[in-house]
Amino acid sequence: MKEMICICCPMGCRLKVYDEESPIRVEGNTCPRGAKYGAEEAVCPKRVVTSVVRVNGGEIAMVSVKTSDVIPKSMIFDALALIKGKTIDAPVGEGDVIVKDIFGTGVDFVATKAVGKSV
Ligand code: SF4
Repeated sequence: MKEMICICCPMGCRLKVYDEESPIRVEGNTCPRGAKYGAEEAVCPKRVVTSVVRVNGGEIAMVSVKTSDVIPKSMIFDALALIKGKTIDAPVGEGDVIVKDIFGTGVDFVATKAVGKSV
């Protein structure tokens, strides 16, 4: 059994995840999202990853990016290496794909805000 805190919303429910059982049983969740989170966290923890990328010719020098969905925690450092040192040209639109299909996961790095050209 593993104990963990659900991070899906600010309530932070304390979960007990019986991962030795099949199917995995979760207690302490207030809603179904917590049961799904607990079961996945016990087997293959996943996270949304955020970072920044340099913008050439932009009204600001950097744009924040995030993964379009969760990726396995074990991939986080390799995923960040994909965008380390990367630069993109302005203008950038919110939701623009910066890196497509990270390691075949079907998840992209996308811009979280728009950056116009510098004047
Ligand atoms: S179990 Fe539901 S209510 Fe509790 S923290 Fe997770 S998402 Fe929020």
